[in-house]
Amino acid sequence: MRKIYFDHAATTPVDAGAAELVMQYMTGDFGNPSSMHGFGQAVRNALEEARKQVVAAIGAASVGEIAFCSGGTEANNMAILGAARANKQKGNHIITTAVEHHSVLSTCKYLAKEGFEVTILPVDHYGLVNVEDVARVITNQTILISIMHANNEVGAVMPIAEIGQMLKNLNRKIIFHTDAIQSIGKLPVNVDQLNVDLLTISGHKIYGPTGTGAMYLRRGTWWQPIMYGGGQERRRRPGTENAPAIIGLGKALEIAVANRVAYVKRITKLRDELVDKVLSRIPHVRLNGHPTKRLPGHASFCVEYIEGEAMMLYLDMQGIAVSSGSACTSGTPEPSHVLLAMGIPKELAYGSVRVTLGKYNTREEIDYFVEALTEIVERMRLMSPVAGSNCTPGACVSCSRAENK
Ligand SMILES: *Cc1c(COP(=O)(O)O)cnc(C)c1O
Repeated sequence: MRKIYFDHAATTPVDAGAAELVMQYMTGDFGNPSSMHGFGQAVRNALEEARKQVVAAIGAASVGEIAFCSGGTEANNMAILGAARANKQKGNHIITTAVEHHSVLSTCKYLAKEGFEVTILPVDHYGLVNVEDVARVITNQTILISIMHANNEVGAVMPIAEIGQMLKNLNRKIIFHTDAIQSIGKLPVNVDQLNVDLLTISGHKIYGPTGTGAMYLRRGTWWQPIMYGGGQERRRRPGTENAPAIIGLGKALEIAVANRVAYVKRITKLRDELVDKVLSRIPHVRLNGHPTKRLPGHASFCVEYIEGEAMMLYLDMQGIAVSSGSACTSGTPEPSHVLLAMGIPKELAYGSVRVTLGKYNTREEIDYFVEALTEIVERMRLMSPVAGSNCTPGACVSCSRAENK
């Protein structure tokens, strides 16, 4: 059977060049980067090369601003817990949004138990936060703001540079964190242009190994570690570094950033074709998120009268991998918190399917997918007791269909 992978927001295959390096540093050139002998020092050098690759990719000022860790979730925990706890004397207010990844949202919610006040900002029908809304909820207690650069589910691109500029103008030394895990390699990511103090990335979303991540911490930002142990990563993240995988992350990031412009051009075109075909072939389907402020490979749909989970499984039976809701929430019966925060009614949110393209996808795969989806939706609607009976066109406020505009 044919196999098509359209779930790159969940994870990506490791780039062959990066995987080769991982293998090399796991087998032949192994060593503990903290060891003073030749084995260790060779790994140390390669690890520091990966750090330079991160510095170059995000426009950081120095290697001292980068700490590697075990992934995006840990990086987000380090950024948020570390900044909040270190600045507790200055204030106790944290601002985030309703559409963050759970590794941000749950961490902020947990901090309420440590005595912090957490404001969770709403988003508009496109999944975007409003800069004025952020400004409005800032108090003299606000110490930290965490807002993602691009959303993993609908691909909405947040106005991070504008928020960063607003904070700079305020000049209140509020720490600004952005989760750039979905945006790096797809959008320009520069810590000075975005005006952020903390920025987090993950290896496996950019063709690097799973279980690797990095946190950027602007020099001079008050922050404390969340774990204690050895002196690795300048005491920011103790524990023997996963050097082979981190070296792979550095390589994957370098490749992603170097090829970004060409990649975006190609993938945007493919994605637009996919969206056009799905919307024109299948009735009662809506595209979620903003028409232009979105990640290049992202397409999230709500298919009316259909259960997204079942649709995903039918596609899987034909060898096509997509997601219904975000990967982290699949398996739970609740519809995606992102779609609900965008004001999409629950019954529509249940019918969501997320297609995320990657660098190895082709036009031919798009056609195969559209054929399969059209046939599956037709079949499912024939079986559905509600299809056609209690139709509520226009109920989906982020609808992209002409009749609902
Ligand atoms: C995948 C993802 C994470 C979590 O990263 P892991 O490396 O899987 O822990 C966090 N934020 C966003 C936006 C993501 O897409």
